[in-house]
Amino acid sequence: MLPWVVRRTRLPLLSLRCVDCRSESATTGDGRFRVNANGKLLDVWLLVRCVSCDRTSKLTVYERAAVRSIDPGELHGYHVNDPELVASRLLDPLLARRNRFTLDWTDAWRLDTPPERLDETWPVRVDVVFEDPVPVRPERLIAQGLGLSRTEVLRRVKCDISLRRSTSADFTFTVTAGD
Ligand SMILES: [Zn+2]
Repeated sequence: MLPWVVRRTRLPLLSLRCVDCRSESATTGDGRFRVNANGKLLDVWLLVRCVSCDRTSKLTVYERAAVRSIDPGELHGYHVNDPELVASRLLDPLLARRNRFTLDWTDAWRLDTPPERLDETWPVRVDVVFEDPVPVRPERLIAQGLGLSRTEVLRRVKCDISLRRSTSADFTFTVTAGD
């Protein structure tokens, strides 16, 4: 059976309090970096914008880093605002921790399930693969993927990890036949 795949449909918003309007939501928009060279040292920021008042904030990517310590290809990416680099920096937990924001994945991801029917032979084993680090509650994801109620998921699904705790790491579960 093909795996289920969790993938992003766009970049998530940031839960980050605006110092002007106190809104708690920011976006990377089109995705821009700012690079500031000072001799052999370099600062790199990822720019984000408050969704309410448009105020721009800078998230520190590098602070006074030695130019030669940064891979030239990566450095070029910061100069040209490479969209893949914007995504990988935004999704880097280190950047989030350093700049004190969390990601808001609401409506920014989807679950792709293969079109096969599940009523052939029980039990059915399903692998869930995360292409992006979207935190999901397994019970909700499985309920959505199988079209079952969450009560039924808790009754019929066997899984190595907690069904109630959010995860963004690949996991496998088994569904037993219903009554
Ligand atoms: Zn604001």
